[in-house]
Amino acid sequence: MRFDIMTLFPELVSGVLGESIMGRAQKAGHISVHAHNIRDYANNKHRKVDDTVYGGGFGMLMMAPPVCDCYDAVREQAISELGEDAKIKTVYMSPQGKVLAQQKAQELSEYDGLIIICGHYEGIDTRALEEIQPEEISIGDYVLTGGELPACILVDCISRLKDGVLSDKACYEEESISSGLLEYPQYTRPYEFRGKKVPDVLISGNHAEIDKWRREQARIVTEKKRPDLLE
Ligand code: SAM
Repeated sequence: MRFDIMTLFPELVSGVLGESIMGRAQKAGHISVHAHNIRDYANNKHRKVDDTVYGGGFGMLMMAPPVCDCYDAVREQAISELGEDAKIKTVYMSPQGKVLAQQKAQELSEYDGLIIICGHYEGIDTRALEEIQPEEISIGDYVLTGGELPACILVDCISRLKDGVLSDKACYEEESISSGLLEYPQYTRPYEFRGKKVPDVLISGNHAEIDKWRREQARIVTEKKRPDLLE
């Protein structure tokens, strides 16, 4: 899957997504991440991309022309790589969007390409959003300084659903939220830590009993931490 991220801080997203599992997924060709600097599309001497808000108020707003010009160029690049028939979706990371959930990540993972627009400062001139018509996605009911970290979160949670990124599909199918419940408690070596031993059932070698214990524990954990998921 191809991700195109439009931002004023491309190093921020390349840095985060170049590490660990996302970095390896890119090297192995399971995903590709292209960070585009919106400032490269500023059509003025000082490469200015923001200005004060009409009507007054605090802060600066990202101007429509560089955002739309960047979008047109990025979309063209994505189509030329993925083909005319490719399924390409555009989203804008925004606190005004619907809050991201696993189901949305699943839905977006079915596209061939995703163009992600990151705002900064006070956000983006409304006319650019009217022109591009992206789906707005929030990562939670709080406000951040920019859309770069939300974009990285979106790319991460979609990418781990793509074949080859994790070692096995079971890695995410059995996990918290994806399975409908929170995950059961897990243990690794040492067998005993500060007087606490690993539950006997997990070293019994009886897989039916282990599965049963895990199902029971997942329900107990969910009831305790997120009872709303059981409703
Ligand atoms: N003035 C905007 C408003 O009240 O809706 C908020 C702008 S915010 C300070 C700057 C940028 O950060 C936004 O354009 C968006 O891209 C990003 N952002 C902030 N909070 C976010 C959130 N919860 N989820 C996704 N993106 C967010």
